[in-house]
Amino acid sequence: TLILAFESSCDETSVAVIENGSKILSNVVATQINSHKRFGGVVPEVASRHHIEQITGCIDDALRIAKAQYSDLSAVAVTYGPGLVGALLVGVAAAKAVAFAHNLPLIPVNHMAGHIYAARFVAPIEFPALALLVSGGHTEIVYLPTENEFQIIGETRDDAAGEAYDKVGRVLGMTYPSGKQIDDLAHTGQDTFNFPRAMEKENNFDFSFSGLKSAFINTVHHADQIKETLSKADLAASFQQSVVDVLANKTIRALKQFKVKQLILAGGVAANNGLRERLDIELKAFPEVKLLKAPLNLCGDNAAMIGAAGYVALKNGIHADLDLNADPSLEFEWYPGMEK
Ligand code: ATP
Ligand code: MG
Ligand code: FE
Repeated sequence: TLILAFESSCDETSVAVIENGSKILSNVVATQINSHKRFGGVVPEVASRHHIEQITGCIDDALRIAKAQYSDLSAVAVTYGPGLVGALLVGVAAAKAVAFAHNLPLIPVNHMAGHIYAARFVAPIEFPALALLVSGGHTEIVYLPTENEFQIIGETRDDAAGEAYDKVGRVLGMTYPSGKQIDDLAHTGQDTFNFPRAMEKENNFDFSFSGLKSAFINTVHHADQIKETLSKADLAASFQQSVVDVLANKTIRALKQFKVKQLILAGGVAANNGLRERLDIELKAFPEVKLLKAPLNLCGDNAAMIGAAGYVALKNGIHADLDLNADPSLEFEWYPGMEK
């Protein structure tokens, strides 16, 4: 089964050809980072325009690299949310056009389900599973009773982890996105600032990163005022230690309550070395749980992960009609009884 997959929810235009939901024949990613850098974040109108310019070239490249033709395809999968509406619409329109022209089923994919299924390229996912989903817009712990059910058990009350990385990076004078730069710098410093670990003692699976962000920014501004120079490496290490502590803490709490076969680490922030190393260590206390980390090169946005999630949806009989619309605020359901 060959799936042509589309991803355009934010600032990456991506098209992939995926075989049986587990083999990448091609995964073309055209990033727009350089166009957004000077604004310190993603500008929606700029993103939409880039997607429009890039998408047909990405389709051609994805098919050429995969040595596939339209007639070889079994289905078309596309991210229809969550994300920027104008950006999503470009992928949705392109996917519909291909589906209509070649009479192929159209599979709607939730971008966050895609992030989780990036882990499928490491090993088959076994259920029930838990996923720690950490990205630029989301920080959630998700329970997967079966391959096509996604239930949130906890989430951030304010900023997403990636968003916090990008905001404190800006204060350190880094370019957007700064997650990887802080991660690298953190490895050269020490946790000397002991920033807050929000909600650590609370008996839930929720997170909060805005207090940490404020503490970080206040510390840097205060030092500026009294003309004191702080170690950027120690600032980065302290920030990262706080983020990793709360992510690990709540994940362990979830593993104690939900008996699962696997823990999946996914989303852009899943590329974080501090977090990957920490979960490796923590999971030793759960020998019955396998840790499945999304591959480093598939943590960020890409269409391969959409093809993997789309394959599972296709198997489960999910498809959309040509009236499929983008849903910018698409969300997983909550675990029954655990809704806020
Ligand atoms: P969402 O998936 O929630 O819609 P998004 O698609 O914009 O949001 P992703 O592409 O999944 O987000 O992830 C991008 C985020 O990951 C950015 O905030 C970036 O700083 C962060 N990130 C990337 N690498 C690392 C790293 N090594 N450490 C920490 N954060 C990182
Ligand atoms: Mg991105
Ligand atoms: Fe994403």
